[in-house]
Amino acid sequence: MSAAFDIDRFRVKPDQDLDLATRDPQETPGWDPDDKSGAKGRVDVLNDRLEELQELLWAQGTERILVVLQAMDAGGKDGTIKHVFDGVNPSGVKVASFKKPSKEELAHDYLWRVHQQVPADGELVIFNRSHYEDVLVVRVENLVPPERWQRRYDHIRNFEQMLADEGTTIIKLFLHISKSEQQERLQERLDRPEKHWKFDPADLGPRSKWEQYQEAFQVALARTSTEAAPWYVVPANRKWFRNLVISEILVQTLEGLEMTFPEAPADIATMTIPD
Ligand code: ATP
Ligand code: MG
Repeated sequence: MSAAFDIDRFRVKPDQDLDLATRDPQETPGWDPDDKSGAKGRVDVLNDRLEELQELLWAQGTERILVVLQAMDAGGKDGTIKHVFDGVNPSGVKVASFKKPSKEELAHDYLWRVHQQVPADGELVIFNRSHYEDVLVVRVENLVPPERWQRRYDHIRNFEQMLADEGTTIIKLFLHISKSEQQERLQERLDRPEKHWKFDPADLGPRSKWEQYQEAFQVALARTSTEAAPWYVVPANRKWFRNLVISEILVQTLEGLEMTFPEAPADIATMTIPD
């Protein structure tokens, strides 16, 4: 399948001087901003292809895929999972959501709960939040002393390198929305009764520290985007463009693995099922 556009432009290059403030969450590079329906059509095509690739992943049973989703609240993690993976066979796909750590989780190192959820052979696992919370909320809210979180960038690089060395393909997606877009989305949750369940007053805390969170994201992305585990900054104000970019990244990455169905027994063509 030919690429609609270059996904590489969204990738954070290792050692790149990343400046998130210069990344426009509203932009649609490589696509006409007025062509929402064309993008939706393209996402449908990519979605069918993703379904096939996931079946191949499962059938071949040797590759492991880890997709990490991070964003500010209302950034679209849930919407991404719903739309991009629509129709993909739920067997073989797992979503792992990382909430505030439990007492038991806090009694261990911060990667303990994360390592348990990584994909096994043939699996695709989506991390809805992740170990990155341990250098984001933990950093901004001073949940551990600085000397502890400062060391974590290196741990995380090494942890992900180990996963990659052992056969995991890692795709990390930062859904980049603007502060005003978040305001609109949170306000909508207040204004529409059917969205009330989504409103969490606690989201206003991080919102009031927007700049500090952006800074924490910027440092995390710059320090942990590697060849083995690249970060992509996905412009996410327009949901249709976000879905398009992520679908492209997933399909192109999975196609790059050049997976094949396992070889059938030599005599399969001559076999018949007995009455
Ligand atoms: P949604 O609100 O859409 O259901 P969510 O991902 O925001 O999804 P919540 O249960 O609202 O889920 O939030 C999870 C909270 O847990 C976030 O505030 C996040 O920062 C926090 N959290 C996750 N991991 C950690 C961690 N390691 N340390 C401290 N807080 C964490
Ligand atoms: Mg929440």
